[in-house]
Amino acid sequence: MPASPIKAGFLQRCPRCGQGALFEGALSLSVRPVCDSCGLDMKSHEEGDGPAVLVMLLLGAIVVVPALMVEARYQPPFWVHALLWPVPIFGLGIWMLRVMKAILIAMQYRHRHDDFDV
Ligand SMILES: [Zn+2]
Repeated sequence: MPASPIKAGFLQRCPRCGQGALFEGALSLSVRPVCDSCGLDMKSHEEGDGPAVLVMLLLGAIVVVPALMVEARYQPPFWVHALLWPVPIFGLGIWMLRVMKAILIAMQYRHRHDDFDV
């Protein structure tokens, strides 16, 4: 029974067992070749540009709305925006890319199971 794609995605775990780590390191976007827990061959995932597109759309909305609110209310100089917004953009961006990639890999495993068994 495959793990829930949402649960495996948010926990960034193996799509089959939901236990083994999906990524090589804490900040890496590289998928481990084999699950440490169940031995699933994870080299066959094919999520394409899906995670990046979803993150750009969601993160753009998440960051632009507060940036516009700060600009409208306080009208700070440009350098305040330049210092303020890269922190949430890079922090949330890396986390959201990992989660979206893990969700799409788990969905591929659930719906295109044969891709992982070659
Ligand atoms: Zn596994």
